[in-house]
Amino acid sequence: MRIALSVLALLLSTSLAAASFSSCVASLRERAAEAGVGPGIVARALDLTAPDEKVLRLSQLRPETKTPIWDYMAFLVDAQRVADGRAMMRKHASVLRAAERRFGVDRHVIAAVWGIETDYGRETGDNFLPHALATLACDGGPRVRFWRGELIAALQLVDRGDLKLDDLKGSWAGAFGHTQFIPTTYRRLAIDFDGDGRRDLVGSVADALGSTAHYLRRSGWQTGRPFMIEVKVPAGYRGPTGRTRKATLTQWARRGVTRADGARLAGGGRAGLLLPAGPNGPGFLVFRNFDAIYAYNHADSYALAVAHLADRLAGRPPLRIAWPTDDPGLSRAARLKLQQLLIAKGYAIGEADGKIGPATRAAIAEAETKLGLPPTGRPGSRILQALQAE
Ligand code: CA
Repeated sequence: MRIALSVLALLLSTSLAAASFSSCVASLRERAAEAGVGPGIVARALDLTAPDEKVLRLSQLRPETKTPIWDYMAFLVDAQRVADGRAMMRKHASVLRAAERRFGVDRHVIAAVWGIETDYGRETGDNFLPHALATLACDGGPRVRFWRGELIAALQLVDRGDLKLDDLKGSWAGAFGHTQFIPTTYRRLAIDFDGDGRRDLVGSVADALGSTAHYLRRSGWQTGRPFMIEVKVPAGYRGPTGRTRKATLTQWARRGVTRADGARLAGGGRAGLLLPAGPNGPGFLVFRNFDAIYAYNHADSYALAVAHLADRLAGRPPLRIAWPTDDPGLSRAARLKLQQLLIAKGYAIGEADGKIGPATRAAIAEAETKLGLPPTGRPGSRILQALQAE
């Protein structure tokens, strides 16, 4: 009897959840219609019977371990992304120059955003946005209004003819296209830069790069001004740090900060000091233009990756100061090599794709233990070299 009751309770709660989801979707349909989206588009977009489980899982995922900055940078600014970026900059030279002229934004930074966001258009995401956003808008969480706004904005882009419904594919959180705008940003700031009358950040590289330059300009980009300088701080530095605690370069020089390239620290503008790995690692003086990059995605590490990739695309050298670790991070090519070695040694991690998921992490930890290394599960140089030497 108790079992029967609990089964009944489960069935009831499942059907209640389904009922509340379908009534939520019905209200989304009404909202979309009120916002002027045509009934055909609303029907085709929201014709779904169940929440997208994958999106729910991803939205609830909390990373167990924080990625060390040297892993993050090694992966995002590797030799391949620099080489690919230079090739893409040659291929799209006239568009990048036109965007630079019109918005005053350094074309290397525009290309770097593209490279970091989607590997120059290769990885734009495959979640169908109307389903992903409806799922999030109906999950009962604290941000349902935000997700509802993104959903309506996405459908409006289709309604006004900028995009086709099938173009709405991207990240689980609604970022999509070559440079991963979310729909409300797209609605507000996307431009038609190739002149065909549509704002198409999915199919048109010109529209995407022009819109990205527009975004950076609107975020306060100052033409011809620096964005970042690599610096060194005195041993045991305990002075101010942080992007927003800005001071003049003269003030930084007085605090003992020097340029990593040995040149004199001089010039106008105010900068904050970032020490992402503490005073023994590379330091960065970051200017107002760095804040414009930060506006794109609110994380210092993200803005550092874009800024450093931009420097590399402009022909400037790799970081001069080493990260303070005896186990540096790996490029995508080295991660692939690591996975191939793990597979060759019998670890069941699926296919080697250079992407480090839970299965690869578990295999790394196991291999580390076997080799007498501390089990970190991290794709670092130490485990790669140990496996190569075996
Ligand atoms: Ca266009």
